[in-house]
Amino acid sequence: MHAYLFGAPRSQEDWRHVAHGARSAGFDLVEVPLLDASDVDTGAISRALEEHHLAVSCSAGLTAAMDISSEDTEAVKRGEAALMRAVSAAARLRSPTLSGVLYSSLAANDRPATSKGRANCVEVLSRVAVAAEREGVALGLEPVNRYETNLVNTAAQGLELIEAIGSANVFLQLDTFHMNIEESDLATPVTEAGGRLGYVHAGESHRGPLGTGTVDFETFFRTLRSIRYGGPIVFESFTTGVPLGGLQGALRVWRDLWTDANAVGRQAREFLDARMGLEPS
Ligand code: MN
Repeated sequence: MHAYLFGAPRSQEDWRHVAHGARSAGFDLVEVPLLDASDVDTGAISRALEEHHLAVSCSAGLTAAMDISSEDTEAVKRGEAALMRAVSAAARLRSPTLSGVLYSSLAANDRPATSKGRANCVEVLSRVAVAAEREGVALGLEPVNRYETNLVNTAAQGLELIEAIGSANVFLQLDTFHMNIEESDLATPVTEAGGRLGYVHAGESHRGPLGTGTVDFETFFRTLRSIRYGGPIVFESFTTGVPLGGLQGALRVWRDLWTDANAVGRQAREFLDARMGLEPS
């Protein structure tokens, strides 16, 4: 599960609360968002997760001032530095992956990406991929919907960008919430990605409890099984009832969709196990 199911953790105590919640709801991995990798207590996070025998993965995103897909060379530089810090933090946490919107700012745009901006993005990610490989961290690119980026909205665009970066240390991530907005169906992106799919976010159309929205999970998980996907499947759900820090505005979380994180998490785990053909955990 995404750590923020239980609200944005800051202190060691908060991380213990997240780890305890994750374990009680039946999860075995916690995704740690590194929104500001210069200000993250990796020791406290590791201790909390280890106490509950939880695996870890890391995610990151860029602000407009750090947009590596812009034509502003200063912003591109700041973005590259932020990604390098996130890679180091992920390595300190012993996360095998760092994924998310690593390729542009997570922000609404009112104009399309430019070819110069995209070239900047490819150049930066090529260097970050090499540095990350040295640290044992693979990079995952997550296509997100048009209201959150103008660069990579679909799996096909994500695969094209990975091709351009030209590193075996970069994989594709898919998120059903975004796919439900941008893709023609939820099977084709999975089969096209095949072995390059390394990470999955399971999110409902309104980012609430799984199975209560319009996402075609049956097709999605049937196709995941057909490609023998064996990577993480991470439950993402956000509501106004838990504090999300800066992520609330970035993800446009304006509605109260549930109140009990533990119940929503437990239900998600059962829902995912059933669709992946796993025995209940
Ligand atoms: Mn996601």
